[in-house]
Amino acid sequence: MSELLPVSCPYCNETLYFEPEPSDEAIEYVEDCHVCCQPIVIKIRYSVNGSQISAERENG
Ligand SMILES: [Zn+2]
Repeated sequence: MSELLPVSCPYCNETLYFEPEPSDEAIEYVEDCHVCCQPIVIKIRYSVNGSQISAERENG
């Protein structure tokens, strides 16, 4: 079973859902918002006790 992490888009404030990949290290990648198509820097820290996610604008 995989969990989906909700996070608000930093541009349009739409709630997006991302699936954390099991990893020992924090994951960071850029994904375009599927609502407003702006590049979002997604940071996910995976944990069996509950993963953490944050979303930031690519350019400050
Ligand atoms: Zn957006």
